Amino acid sequence: MATNCALYKLIKLQYASETYLQLNLPPHIQRAITQIRVSAHNLEIERGRMARPHPIPPDQRLCRHCGQVETEIHFITECLLYSNMRKQMLSACPVMFKNFSGADLFMKLFTSTNRIVLHELGIFICRAMARRQSYLG
Ligand SMILES: [Zn+2]
Repeated sequence: MATNCALYKLIKLQYASETYLQLNLPPHIQRAITQIRVSAHNLEIERGRMARPHPIPPDQRLCRHCGQVETEIHFITECLLYSNMRKQMLSACPVMFKNFSGADLFMKLFTSTNRIVLHELGIFICRAMARRQSYLG
């Protein structure tokens, strides 16, 4: 719960309106962005929180590819399982993100008001989720 709130604040930072909802993005792209923003996904950080009868401690909600804690930030900006897709996304963006990584990059992407950036981000999320699905089998 605390993790979700922290994430939401990070994304909300300097972000008055939900611009991405007004950019006429294709529905599946918009959905993909929303999915990450509101933690409606099955990354380990969220699966562990929902685990019954007992939630898994946050530091044990690990990525099954690399063993790091699988947060939204890990998924979007760090995990090497998606590095090719991530490179494609970043190189297709008309904004320079190369000086940013981790939480900073995450915030830059999700608070962008540039339609192309958000479109690329949505495509990345869709492709990376599919890659993750097939990796987990
Ligand atoms: Zn990973």
